[in-house]
Amino acid sequence: MALLEIRDLSVDYLMEGGRVHAVDHVSLSLEEGTSLGIVGESGSGKSTLGMAVLRLLDPGSASVTGSVRFDGEELLTMPEARLRQVRWQALAAVFQKSMNALSPVHRIGQQMADVYRLHHPEADKAACRARVLEVLRQVDLAERVYRLYPHELSGGMMQRVSIALSLLNHPKLVIFDEATTALDVITQGQILKEIQRLEKELGLTRMMITHDISVVATSCTHVAVLYAGRLMEVGPAASVLRHPAHPYTAGLMAAFPSLTGEKKPLQGIPGSLPDLTQTIPGCVFAPRCPYATEACRSAQPALEQVEPGWQAACCHRLGEVKDHG
Ligand code: SF4
Repeated sequence: MALLEIRDLSVDYLMEGGRVHAVDHVSLSLEEGTSLGIVGESGSGKSTLGMAVLRLLDPGSASVTGSVRFDGEELLTMPEARLRQVRWQALAAVFQKSMNALSPVHRIGQQMADVYRLHHPEADKAACRARVLEVLRQVDLAERVYRLYPHELSGGMMQRVSIALSLLNHPKLVIFDEATTALDVITQGQILKEIQRLEKELGLTRMMITHDISVVATSCTHVAVLYAGRLMEVGPAASVLRHPAHPYTAGLMAAFPSLTGEKKPLQGIPGSLPDLTQTIPGCVFAPRCPYATEACRSAQPALEQVEPGWQAACCHRLGEVKDHG
């Protein structure tokens, strides 16, 4: 059984006079011990998907339908009391701006101990301190960080503190939402290595939301490509990124510097995202796709198997694109 099973998930943001279809009938699953990178350009629905899984969207401004099963339990209809036990414990998250997650006027150790005590009311002061020091060590931070304030840490140290916070309650799944984006490449590389080490040591499963394909290529076992809220392609990262079956994935790869060192001119994808307040009957990528035909504009293509465990959402001309890939 998959640890996370997303079925037919849709998210509409409710605006005055209309709806923005941010995520459109997405289905994905994440097996225990694997790491799934979610990629796509800004506005593709990646972060909305993560927020919907964490049930962090305000029901007054977003309508969420479909199903999100985590470890066998439905999250979308889970009672609040149970959700509080699951979220931030079995299911944790690390966001981009770690500074925002920390109080600037309290020491790191104190605020982490407070978070731990909230979920473990039986733990005394010594037990809270011991657990905080343990997770700080796990992310390679010195014991002295316990006594420091957030402004005394570098960006990389802050992000390590955020990762330590997410590990406090022994989660099974951690969602990283652009968690390494603001870091310089050296620190980003170090933190990605730490994350992979922790995964092995602690048996974590990871969802990595990022616009940076190199993050997925170097640290994820699987990749899902979103465009305009729809799932375009999903499968093993090495296969999908080397031989993309979907024209949008191929376009993303052509716009990204080669990961193997070979020099080639970068090519952008012409055009821009469609208006997500409109219902698009056919393939949502058709206005930008070099292979588009009339058929693409009239019927929304379904996910098709490229190989076992690898699906490309859709292309009416899948075989042709693969042959040229
Ligand atoms: Fe391009 Fe048509 Fe495939 Fe859409 S369905 S990606 S428009 S070829």
